[in-house]
Amino acid sequence: MKKTVLVTGGAGYIGSHTAYLLAQQGYDVIIIDKLLHNQPFNHNWCTLIKEDFANKDVLKDIFKSYNVDSVVHFAAFIEVGESVIYPQRFYENNVLKTFELLDSMLTHGVKKFIYSSSCAVYGNPIKIPMDENHPKNPVSPYGKNKLAVEFILEDYSKAYDLKYIALRYFNAAGAFPEAGLGEMHNPETHIIPLLLRAILSQKPFKIFGDNYNSKDGTCIRDYVHVRDISDAHVKALDHLEKTGASDFFNLGTGTGYTVKELINSAEKICAAKANLIYAERRDGDVDALVADLSKASDILNWKPAFSNLEFILKSALRWEEKVSLEKNEIITSV
Ligand code: UDP
Repeated sequence: MKKTVLVTGGAGYIGSHTAYLLAQQGYDVIIIDKLLHNQPFNHNWCTLIKEDFANKDVLKDIFKSYNVDSVVHFAAFIEVGESVIYPQRFYENNVLKTFELLDSMLTHGVKKFIYSSSCAVYGNPIKIPMDENHPKNPVSPYGKNKLAVEFILEDYSKAYDLKYIALRYFNAAGAFPEAGLGEMHNPETHIIPLLLRAILSQKPFKIFGDNYNSKDGTCIRDYVHVRDISDAHVKALDHLEKTGASDFFNLGTGTGYTVKELINSAEKICAAKANLIYAERRDGDVDALVADLSKASDILNWKPAFSNLEFILKSALRWEEKVSLEKNEIITSV
């Protein structure tokens, strides 16, 4: 029999790619998402419920109407810099509402939970690459939100037999334009879409800080293709169903690129130069974030297949072009 999975934030960036893959793998997918970014989402492979993921009446209806077996929870505010300015909003949306969601799940006997965590739980690196035992000293309210929920999950799993897997993403990137899926934040803050748009339109691109501890002074990040992240969720859910073993895993590639290296690659792919502006550091950013992925590889048998930087950038570029075409904008690239 098909299993039903409830995906919160399933119309968002990583959520939509994962929901799509879950549907492809034979799950019945119900998405709860209030379409915060006004993004169009009219896919026929899922049931979409346009509501807040913590609305207890809506959750009650969902849990009573559908035989939900597990919840994959993406819905969250994600912008690190904004979390420094508006921590109250972030604690409310990312921690309190997750608490409400878990409460509803437990009330209705739903006990499998896959959680979108983040490498932001680690804070400034003491060693690179970072494994799951790296000390956790989150710098931003966003990172603290993610760690706070991990603590809740740990305690709930002991006390209430909740089975969970927390996946700590490094930098999700790329798109799956052929499936109509890609990054569509409003406003966009992530480097790859901003950089590609800046190069293609010949508008300035701001580098946030060039005095970090790295070979060229710009931040090092581990860019992992969103399709690989989705695959890890499917594997994590399968692992949880088979073993019931709660755990947490890093999702990254093990290779880091500086902002300048990323710019060089994007310039090659677009066959155009970026118009660079050097700006102040962004609040909450750390020098380097690079994953040790051995645990996910050993236990989940997860290996990134799409995370080559060129492939990531090309897929993101195709997505930008598709979105622009749909908006009837003229955009030029090779
Ligand atoms: N970044 C940048 N200019 C931008 C956006 C991002 O220099 O317009 C840098 C940012 O400071 C960080 C890296 O790019 O070092 C990745 O940032 P992003 O927001 O994409 O992801 P995050 O690391 O915050 O999850």
